[in-house]
Amino acid sequence: MYDASLLLSLQALDKSIADLKETLSATETSLKDDSLVAKAENIFQQIYVRHEKVAKEQRETERETQRLTDRKDLIESRIYAGNITNPKELSALQEEVGNLTSLIGDQEDILLVRMEETEKYDEGLEKATTQFQDAKAAHEKKLIDLKSKQNDLMKQLESEQPQQEALRGKFSPDVLQIYDRVSQSNKGIGVAVVEGDRCSECRLSIPTQLLEKLKSTDEFVYCNSCRRILLRGTLR
Ligand SMILES: [Zn+2]
Repeated sequence: MYDASLLLSLQALDKSIADLKETLSATETSLKDDSLVAKAENIFQQIYVRHEKVAKEQRETERETQRLTDRKDLIESRIYAGNITNPKELSALQEEVGNLTSLIGDQEDILLVRMEETEKYDEGLEKATTQFQDAKAAHEKKLIDLKSKQNDLMKQLESEQPQQEALRGKFSPDVLQIYDRVSQSNKGIGVAVVEGDRCSECRLSIPTQLLEKLKSTDEFVYCNSCRRILLRGTLR
């Protein structure tokens, strides 16, 4: 003997608890997942390193340009002071000024390229910084939401589990044993209802002979296709 409507209630409760546990587990996994922050941080770090490198190169080129310019200024001031009377010395100095002018021109070309590069990385770094901060803020918000969800799920579980225990207490151990076994081998759904002449779970039609048996017996009758416990449809 078993109470079919209680069995359906137990199944509904079991399903609800199983779903709650699954959602809870997924929530706990999400809580541990900070991959978006890690990804944004990684991009930020890479751009930061590149930015440091190009900024350093720019400073070096600036220093080299300044060094050459100072040297050129020094020689020019010697030439214009008018103290050099030796024509050979004068022409050597003028030649050096020419060389330095050419070297300064080269450095200025390099500097222009490096300034453009630095500017590009300035923008990139600003963008990556914003994205990293946004990712951290979004993660903080996500954690708050997930913790609240986790809390709700745990409360619901704490309320449903005693109900489940109480409901199981209304069945004989034999019935529970069969129900548990059939449920376990059918993804947690051990009970099906006859709808018309079909099984509510596998949707296949049930032979008349089985339907007749279901009307006349208090023993468990099983769907001949999915092997679930069949209950008369009037109960739903
Ligand atoms: Zn079935």
